[in-house]
Amino acid sequence: LMQLYQPLNFLGSVYSNLRKSIVDLENMFSLLSQDPEVDNHKDTKHLPANLSEAGPAKIEFQDVYFGYDIEREILHGVSFAAEPGSQVAIVGPTGAGKSTISRLLFRFYDVNSGSVKIDGQDIRDYIQSNLRAAIGVVPQDTVLFNDTIEYNIAYGRLGCSKEEIEHAAKLAQIHDFIQSLPDGYQTYVGERGLKLSGGEKQRIAIARAILKNPRILILDEATSALDSRTEQEIQQALDRVAKGRTVVTIAHRLSTIVHSDLILVMIDGKVREQGTHEFLLAKNGFYASMWAIQAKQSDE
Ligand code: ATP
Repeated sequence: LMQLYQPLNFLGSVYSNLRKSIVDLENMFSLLSQDPEVDNHKDTKHLPANLSEAGPAKIEFQDVYFGYDIEREILHGVSFAAEPGSQVAIVGPTGAGKSTISRLLFRFYDVNSGSVKIDGQDIRDYIQSNLRAAIGVVPQDTVLFNDTIEYNIAYGRLGCSKEEIEHAAKLAQIHDFIQSLPDGYQTYVGERGLKLSGGEKQRIAIARAILKNPRILILDEATSALDSRTEQEIQQALDRVAKGRTVVTIAHRLSTIVHSDLILVMIDGKVREQGTHEFLLAKNGFYASMWAIQAKQSDE
């Protein structure tokens, strides 16, 4: 019985960890073939998933109200629009509801009222697997399979060629590191294999996203500090994978999002300010004071 219980227990802990941070949503849905939180009766429309197939997607939140449970509402009327190919950043204090927005976009949960739309259509109308194929996620902390590096990258698009895997790894700036390992792409990673650093795992996630080539990308910026060289390399890799897609970044450092097309300032489940960096600075409100605080901290 213990033998039966252990993998279940493992899955249970994977499940709860994944729910807490936005994490590897894609992995999770392959582990659990169905998702009890959302109703799948109406979802019949096809949504093209691939960037090369249909170009970047438009995202809209219209007056979205949502709570994980009935007693506690988390989002109180969130509205914004991300134009196709635009870079949107969500900032705000911890617990403000930033990750919740990305979970709703991925349809981890359904809204209580209002709607989330992609290309002008409510996401509840789309075939769920299409929706998830259209969205790539680079999480803060990537869950790796106990398998080879090659498999872990190829997971972005199972069935792709070795050349495609290497190409993605090069763009994600992890190829040289992999080549330096004695077993190269055949190196085992994960709990029972080689342990990778946070930055290395993130680059694997970027390579996966490059292979998947989704129309929408969610980037959950790492809160943990990486050394500045690693951070720069990761930023370059992220810029590459972001190019041409509609990107939603959950940001912890304002310095990385200065050039965003739209910055949403979330406070207590509401978008309190939105606009470009310059616009928000001139407004001299929440964003401007957050900027002043971070600038002061980086001077110290
Ligand atoms: P952070 O910057 O710390 O990641 P955040 O702005 O991303 O914060 P969310 O993760 O969206 O915040 O959480 C918003 C609120 O929703 C928090 O108060 C949190 O406690 C609550 N919450 C998040 N996930 C769940 C869940 N699975 N069940 C119940 N409440 C949750």
